[in-house]
Amino acid sequence: MLINMTNVLSHEGRTESLQCEIEMNEFHSFDGSFPIIRKEPLIFRASNVGPGQAEYQGTMVLELQLACDRCLRKVTRLFELSFSGVIISPEMADEEHENSEFMEGYSFNIESLVTNEVLMNWPMKVLCSDDCKGLCMKCGKDLNGGICGCDTFIPDPRMAAIKDIFNANNKEV
Ligand SMILES: [Zn+2]
Ligand SMILES: [Zn+2]
Repeated sequence: MLINMTNVLSHEGRTESLQCEIEMNEFHSFDGSFPIIRKEPLIFRASNVGPGQAEYQGTMVLELQLACDRCLRKVTRLFELSFSGVIISPEMADEEHENSEFMEGYSFNIESLVTNEVLMNWPMKVLCSDDCKGLCMKCGKDLNGGICGCDTFIPDPRMAAIKDIFNANNKEV
């Protein structure tokens, strides 16, 4: 969705506020697409701060369905976005005065802004719970639902040596 910024950029003292619903229902990132399961309207406000210049700020809340890094279960993550920045009239933009990456001519691209903000707030780790046991390395069973019975025991050679001594002693008795 594009918001026309002509008025706010060209009228001194002008402020424009708007609320809008973003159109996307799925979020696409570097590692897949994730359903947006809840979104609140974007609240956006831009104020003229001088000839051909404006400041914007806004907030938005959305919830995405991600997957646990360990067991792949569905996990809901809340993104509470809060952003601000400066835009300038396109004819003022040059090498020295770079315009906001969200400006397309005299229009502001809301979807690009939201995408950028979500990526900046992307969690480093997604876990269904801090003590998620993950999947069995052998059979792939979700170990949160109980053990699978696979032999994943890696014997410690030092323990094996102690066991031998123990067995030998038992035989003597
Ligand atoms: Zn998990
Ligand atoms: Zn297993």
